[in-house]
Amino acid sequence: MIIHMEQGATPDQTDRVIDRITRDYGLRCETIVSDTTVIGVKGVTSIIDDQRIAELPGVERVIRITVKYKDASRSFHPEDTVINVGGVNVGGRNLTMFGGPCAIETEQQALDSARLAKDAGCDILRAFVDKSRTSPYDYRGLALDRGLEIASAMKAETGMPIVSELIDLRHLDAFLRAGVDIIQIGARSAQYSPLLEELSRLDVPVVLKHGFGNDLNEWLCAAAYIMSGLDREGRSVGQGNRNVILCYRGIKSFETETRFAADISMIPLVRAKSHLPLLADPSHSSGDKKLVERVAYGFVAAGASGLEFDIHSNPSEALCDGKQAVLGHEAARMVRNTRQLHAMLADVGFETGSSVAVAAK
Ligand code: PEP
Ligand code: MN
Repeated sequence: MIIHMEQGATPDQTDRVIDRITRDYGLRCETIVSDTTVIGVKGVTSIIDDQRIAELPGVERVIRITVKYKDASRSFHPEDTVINVGGVNVGGRNLTMFGGPCAIETEQQALDSARLAKDAGCDILRAFVDKSRTSPYDYRGLALDRGLEIASAMKAETGMPIVSELIDLRHLDAFLRAGVDIIQIGARSAQYSPLLEELSRLDVPVVLKHGFGNDLNEWLCAAAYIMSGLDREGRSVGQGNRNVILCYRGIKSFETETRFAADISMIPLVRAKSHLPLLADPSHSSGDKKLVERVAYGFVAAGASGLEFDIHSNPSEALCDGKQAVLGHEAARMVRNTRQLHAMLADVGFETGSSVAVAAK
């Protein structure tokens, strides 16, 4: 439910509405103030009597949100969400580059690849310790302690915030202690609700990949799990975690020559439906470094808030996803060109962010 206050509504009138919602119904509110004030009501709102709220002074209208992913929905939160991670902004009109090796293999490989990501102009570094692999015989990462030690060293060496995929809830505290700035939920765990619910209790930023068998509703519902702050009985156990970053990476199709099928029209569509930052991953979608750069330009032109991609210091020796990893100079060109493309689109008035959303409505 969202409550639009009238143009000249006073702060007292807004407080009174919030007070009514929290006191009478035990629900939480989020307030967005721009030209007018909009109050978003979190939690299970079916218990609210709309009429009683609509009659309060200063209320213009009360609107019920019909989508199942309320907290992630743009109708609940019309403005773009911008998330600050260690001084780097993600979302809105920013273009933010997440790059680095697919997996930490050795200290040397990880540090070399981290320097390449920094020199290429990336903002956030991939420092992946746990790898979720299809086959148990494939490389699945170093022992947790050693992997996290190297992840911390990558952060110290470059001064960049780091993102790392969490596949096991028991590893969460160790990740946070090691200084992981952003937790990634991979495509294989994208609907695993115990993981999502646990992240709902924290405010650590989360990158949520698009599950490769999920439609848009399922993906945004997974985001809402992290954001809602509701337990399984629908009780509010906190404000929820608002720091969710979506990352599109394509879905399974019958095509065998690309790794996954990435539908470019999902980019403006998701930005229209959701206020959350939206990255796109040209490496895990195309699966081939010969395709990555072009696909990256496509995603940025379509309105992505940034990219996440694999860089490796020596792709032919990589233990994981070497085929799709770009070299340092290729990453540098890609980052430079995507930034120019992004600026050029903004110059001609076709900015990413909420203007894309307006165009796509
Ligand atoms: C990754 O980003 O390293 C990864 C494994 O991606 P996905 O979860 O999209 O397969
Ligand atoms: Mn990979």
